[in-house]
Amino acid sequence: MEQPERREGFLTVKPTMWRIGLVGCVVILIFFLIAISAIIFFIGRTPYYRNLVECHSHIQRIGDAVGRYATKNDAYPKSLKDLVPDYIPAAVLKCPADESAGAVSYIYRIPRPNDPPTFHILECHNHQLRKDMQPGGWAYQKNGQIVPLIQEPLKLKR
Ligand SMILES: [Zn+2]
Repeated sequence: MEQPERREGFLTVKPTMWRIGLVGCVVILIFFLIAISAIIFFIGRTPYYRNLVECHSHIQRIGDAVGRYATKNDAYPKSLKDLVPDYIPAAVLKCPADESAGAVSYIYRIPRPNDPPTFHILECHNHQLRKDMQPGGWAYQKNGQIVPLIQEPLKLKR
């Protein structure tokens, strides 16, 4: 006699608990999804990330232009200014995060045949997430890949 009563209790009470739990989970999940999308939306609008995205497109275009120049002339350009105006407009040589007066924001190194594929042909060091971190940005490798330059904390002066 006791067992059916327990069964009844299990069947009538538990589903309601499950329903409350399920609705609670769905509400929490929706709340987190909204919160996460809001965070991503606002971070994406900050100047730091906007500049990083734009700089990525600049370094891609310069890297491609260096490649096209090298293919056509059988040698790498001596300077990035050699790419203007035939390969890229001058404005591309300026990183959006670079506030200096210079016309070229990117560090350019001519690769030698024995340099590894991960050799950095181009580097940008104009992006600083926080004042206590080294400026970083992107690097364009010899193999055509763009990799982020890790921003390490600045060593504290004592
Ligand atoms: Zn940059």
